[in-house]
Amino acid sequence: MTERTFSIIKPDATARNLTGKINAVIEDAGLRIVAQRRIRMTEDQAKKFYEVHKERPFYGELVGQMTSAPVVVQVLEGENAVAKYREIMGATNPEQAAEGTIRKQFALNVGENSVHGSDSQENAKIEIAQFFTDDQIVG
Ligand code: ADP
Ligand code: MG
Repeated sequence: MTERTFSIIKPDATARNLTGKINAVIEDAGLRIVAQRRIRMTEDQAKKFYEVHKERPFYGELVGQMTSAPVVVQVLEGENAVAKYREIMGATNPEQAAEGTIRKQFALNVGENSVHGSDSQENAKIEIAQFFTDDQIVG
């Protein structure tokens, strides 16, 4: 089924000029980038986006990282886009990520792991709506 997922190219990756290389992995996997914008995430946006992790010990560090440099927010569209993107991103910890995945190739560590991808269709809808209006997504 064609669906959409939400992606962020994180500060560690934009800082190292990896946006194009990451987009190439995304497109080579058959996912279409149907919306994309480079922004500086505010502290309020980062806190809200990662609210589910607010009790975790790394929450403060995570919010600090996400606001430390620009990010590229994206909507990806394709067959089983949520699961497909999770697969090509690789495991949260790059040491556990499979060969060829974005995190295996580019991530620095478990915190600075280059990309975010939604973990369910329900969360994808919520996350997309935090950064894009319907008319900004051109499928
Ligand atoms: P994912 O991004 O793979 O969905 P989680 O939702 O579990 O992973 O965590 C959200 C983000 O929080 C991770 O991508 C990573 O940037 C950060 N994070 C997760 N676990 C840790 C950790 N143990 N130490 C530092 N940062 C972490
Ligand atoms: Mg997650």
